[in-house]
Amino acid sequence: MEKILIIDDSAVQASYLRSILDSDYDVTMVQTAEDGLLRLHSEDYSLILLDVVMPGMDGFMLLKKLQDEMVTRHIPVILITSLSDIENEQRGLTLGAVDYISKPFHPMIVKARVNTHIKLYQYRKQIEYQSMTDQLTGVANRRRHDRHSLIKWQEAARLQIPFSVCIFDIDNFKKYNDMFGHPAGDTVISAVAKTVSAHLRRSTDFLARYGGEEFVAFLMGNHSNKAFEYLKQVRQAVEDLHIPHDPAAGQWVTISIGGVTTIPKMEDAYCNYLKVADTMLYEAKRSGRNRVVWTSEDLERWDEKA
Ligand code: GH3
Ligand code: MG
Ligand code: MG
Repeated sequence: MEKILIIDDSAVQASYLRSILDSDYDVTMVQTAEDGLLRLHSEDYSLILLDVVMPGMDGFMLLKKLQDEMVTRHIPVILITSLSDIENEQRGLTLGAVDYISKPFHPMIVKARVNTHIKLYQYRKQIEYQSMTDQLTGVANRRRHDRHSLIKWQEAARLQIPFSVCIFDIDNFKKYNDMFGHPAGDTVISAVAKTVSAHLRRSTDFLARYGGEEFVAFLMGNHSNKAFEYLKQVRQAVEDLHIPHDPAAGQWVTISIGGVTTIPKMEDAYCNYLKVADTMLYEAKRSGRNRVVWTSEDLERWDEKA
């Protein structure tokens, strides 16, 4: 059930609104803008019904605050008020409300408008999700990677925790496509994504399909030796799928992994470490494939099979 938050200092009016909506939605009521903000920071709502006239912070002030904040900006707000003059309606809509309902209101009208805005919100979320997801594998796509990596990189720099960046690439994949065909190749890409993401299960782990048969992952909190050991297991898990390859390329489908671990400094750029990971991947390919090559800040380098 979609969640709706009613922010209204009048308990009578809030209860009335809730009675109109609570057969279809999970409705919460609060009586002040401040309590509304607290709720919105701790739970996900799909719509806010906001009273304009309230003691303390009023609806307009709260609406402005919500629009200013990343985490609340996307939630649609319908203003409910007895201020029925054009000027206030204009002010509310200009501040970013999606709709405006004046008192006294008809229950069916409230319900219809709420349904419409909830539907629009659901469409928008779905489109946002799709635009950030790789269609073939269901993991994050490059766009999501580009956004998410910057946020997490800065977080690691602020908290001074180790950050590992790695690039995975399927070995001799052109040969695989040549032998088994492109659709079979797609199935392999999906199987690899599924296996790798099953291993990157922590909430701080992240995996994206970066290009054709190439993935980027980052892990937070592991020192380089741990990350290296862990990625060896991931590489092995792909080999253990025992997907037959073109015998000229090897018995099974395998991946090579290049990676680097660092504790980011504020002035460091994520993209430079992505380049380091790519260099390690190149080394893994050059020295025979189906291996992990890793480096750390002090430029130590480990090759799984050297
Ligand atoms: P290496 O071990 O050096 O990585 O060799 P490789 O053949 O995998 O590398 P290369 O970069 O030369 O070729 C990658 C191939 O991946 C080329 C292309 O046919 C295939 N590929 C890229 N994207 C897709 C995709 O979405 N589906 C399929 N089936 N194949 C893809
Ligand atoms: Mg490849
Ligand atoms: Mg490649």
